[in-house]
Amino acid sequence: MIELNNVAYGYNGNTLFSQLSLALDPGSFHFLTGPSGAGKTTLLRLCYADLRAQSGQVSLFGQDAATLNRDAVAIARRRIGVVHQDCQFLDHLSIAENIALPLTVSNRGDETMDNLKELLSWVGLEHQANQLPAELSGGERQRAALARAVITSPDVIIADEPTGNVDWEMSQRLLMLLVELNRMGKAVLIATHDLHMIRSLKSDVSARVLRLKDQQLVQAGADL
Ligand code: ADP
Ligand code: ADP
Repeated sequence: MIELNNVAYGYNGNTLFSQLSLALDPGSFHFLTGPSGAGKTTLLRLCYADLRAQSGQVSLFGQDAATLNRDAVAIARRRIGVVHQDCQFLDHLSIAENIALPLTVSNRGDETMDNLKELLSWVGLEHQANQLPAELSGGERQRAALARAVITSPDVIIADEPTGNVDWEMSQRLLMLLVELNRMGKAVLIATHDLHMIRSLKSDVSARVLRLKDQQLVQAGADL
């Protein structure tokens, strides 16, 4: 559904990676690891066309991302649920309204109530539904960001450190939600430093663990 072929990217003339290829197929589950600064966030942003490849090709649902205008990118992105590292909520809307926003903006507001209740309870935020983002803890905001990313039932879910601020039990719960969605055929890509979480899952689903280091994307070894 999303494919990177021989992609290069860097900032200010410093190459982060080149010749990088990755395919997010239906039902695939990928973890992306690697040292801070290796380019994980950059790679995720290329996958949802928030950045454009400097060489090589990114294709979104069969279309070359380089040929898509802003509107076409926006339409393609409706099929991708993104959990940003900094969450990016609208400050003046409640948590429930923020989570429901992707449905509201794609005119699917009528689907909201059922999905919303179920998701709020899954991520343990039933009691925070009417609070403002600023009133929540970092971990609670992360849980809300994941709920918002999946409320439209997108084909692809891309998450940047979705469990960085949550405790072990909750991170397992969030992971379960992603596994459930993956079993329904969604492609999942998670950038994380949390090797403990990766290990907890490896045998359950056929997750591939990729490591971005020294400008290369490689399959992580047994040392994980
Ligand atoms: P990580 O993914 O390693 O947890 P971030 O994605 O937040 O961290 O940022 C990684 C690094 O990129 C940080 O050192 C941050 O300062 C730097 N960075 C992020 N955005 C910019 C920017 N717009 N300009 C310069 N540096 C940036
Ligand atoms: P990671 O997520 O693996 O920590 P990032 O993709 O956030 O890596 O960042 C990779 C490198 O690119 C870092 O050295 C960071 O400082 C730099 N960087 C990230 N975003 C920007 C930006 N917008 N402008 C300049 N440099 C950036």
